[in-house]
Amino acid sequence: MSYDANNIFAKILRGEIPAITVYEDDQTLAFMDIMPQAHGHTLVIPKEAAETLHDLSDDAAANLIKKVKMIAAAVKSAMQAEGITLFQLNGEAAGQTVPHIHFHVLPGSIVTARAH
Ligand code: 5GP
Repeated sequence: MSYDANNIFAKILRGEIPAITVYEDDQTLAFMDIMPQAHGHTLVIPKEAAETLHDLSDDAAANLIKKVKMIAAAVKSAMQAEGITLFQLNGEAAGQTVPHIHFHVLPGSIVTARAH
């Protein structure tokens, strides 16, 4: 599928809409989720235009997972979380709502959160 350059994360990357940025480098942006599933819920995205993991270049994928690892450690420390959940949805059928690949970094457990 072709990349939609008007998706909300593309607009955040271009600075057209605001986001609470927690980390940025030449290939990566991390920012707070606007509707957090837990306090500290952070999204990590590549700057490469890719809708899903299947569209991402190998180089960008390798960089992205390194940055996810780093940000997961930072969120764990900042939120004093005993555990961190990562999830990443590909395609509408999987529940993806924003068509720019992103990792969710979530303090705690979505399994526990859903059980309550
Ligand atoms: P998905 O369901 O695609 O895996 O997750 C998309 C995530 O993006 C959701 O958790 C949603 O709350 C978040 N989101 C949607 N629109 C915005 C926005 O404009 N700003 C920010 N910071 N997060 C957004």
